[in-house]
Amino acid sequence: MNISVIGTGYVGLVSGVCFADLGHKVTCVDKDIQKVMKLRNGEVPIYEPGLQELMVKNAAAGRLSFTHDVPEAVQDAEIIILAVGTPSLPNGEANLQYIEQAAREIALAMNGYKIIMTKSTVPVGTNEHIRSIIASLTELPFDVASVPEFLREGSAISDTFHPDRIVIGTDSETVKEKLTELHSKLANNILITDVRSAEMIKYASNAFLATKISFINEIANICEKVGADVTLVARGMGYDRRIGSAFLSAGIGYGGSCFPKDTDALIQIAGNVEYDFKLLKSVVNVNKDQRFNVIRKLQEALGDLSGKTIAIWGLAFKPNTDDVRYAPAIEIIGELTRLGCTVKAYDPVAMENFRKSGNYENVIWCDAMTSAAADSDALCLLTEWDEFKKADLAYIEKIMNQPVLIDGRNVFTKDKIALTNFHYYSVGRPNIN
Ligand code: NAD
Repeated sequence: MNISVIGTGYVGLVSGVCFADLGHKVTCVDKDIQKVMKLRNGEVPIYEPGLQELMVKNAAAGRLSFTHDVPEAVQDAEIIILAVGTPSLPNGEANLQYIEQAAREIALAMNGYKIIMTKSTVPVGTNEHIRSIIASLTELPFDVASVPEFLREGSAISDTFHPDRIVIGTDSETVKEKLTELHSKLANNILITDVRSAEMIKYASNAFLATKISFINEIANICEKVGADVTLVARGMGYDRRIGSAFLSAGIGYGGSCFPKDTDALIQIAGNVEYDFKLLKSVVNVNKDQRFNVIRKLQEALGDLSGKTIAIWGLAFKPNTDDVRYAPAIEIIGELTRLGCTVKAYDPVAMENFRKSGNYENVIWCDAMTSAAADSDALCLLTEWDEFKKADLAYIEKIMNQPVLIDGRNVFTKDKIALTNFHYYSVGRPNIN
């Protein structure tokens, strides 16, 4: 099939590359010309394991191309995938300006029947809104379908090739057949729904996962007070198939470009129909506070933090990505500098994005985990990169001013810490030394 993807970010680029790899002819469009130039040169503007090799292979085979010219891409395509961003407005609602603009551009460029397949996460009713924008600008026939994206950054390619399910929201038989065919090599589990239900499935899924995280984080906070170990509690819970073990890792809370914005948007979607989503509001509030446990633990270990040097390992919101949107590190580092600390920060791939994400004073950007730890009064692990898991803690302890380790992701085992003199604080597990 001929496919165009509008928006070449974490979702659009991965989808475009993977559909090309399945043998389709794909044109990826982005309005960011610099991004398009990089992509044409074989450079991937984001960090996503395996993506560059697959992109270069499919571009060389002539199945994948990049442009900023929407009309050219629209005219060639039978299926147009919308994958532009839907960031939060200040009130938490999804900002639909990129979706609306893309819909107008598609409408003005159309030269015949098109299927517009929305992968961007959009509030219930948005696909109808897209339909009315396009219908107001062209008399040509088209259909709009909601096919929400569930990939995770860091494992996006494998998630795209082996999704747990594909959801296709449509009221058209033609679209149902065409999009089922498009996805037939990817998933056995294809659920056809109406458009509004498909839109809701995406928000409900993210809200449920966020709820699991905030739930286990609150259990962890109680475990700390009653002397239980949340990792064992989570394991014991996870064996129950009704609960499942995924998303029961206690830590410093969720971040990233999806959960924070999608939970806020769902609270707004509910509010717009006068439903007070009390449970989800609590999930969001628990998450906002959880990251500050790092500060509380530092204060427990060091007392007044003013004048202290704190090493930070990990800036990305999770490992294997350079995405720092809503990363817990943003607020933790902001609070540490507000309290008068000098921060020494290191991340294997997200340093540049993080530096650009705010105006950070008193932060020393380090080029290795050892240089961040050197001469620090405490070390905080905020992202569970493999590199940190393999750290030689005996050496790290020697180069620090004081052996204080706050493990925000429960990366280290009791046995590994027992071989060191670290004063060790983790999440929902007993302190050591
Ligand atoms: P992103 O910000 O990485 O990429 C969006 C891209 O769209 C940008 O490159 C931007 O320049 C481009 N763009 C905006 N308007 C355009 C237009 N009119 N024409 C051409 N290009 C345009 O966003 P993302 O993280 O890929 O997310 C995209 C959507 O997918 C969002 O709705 C998001 O919620 C959803 N989603 C994201 C993930 C994820 O892990 N990132 C997972 C599932 C769903």
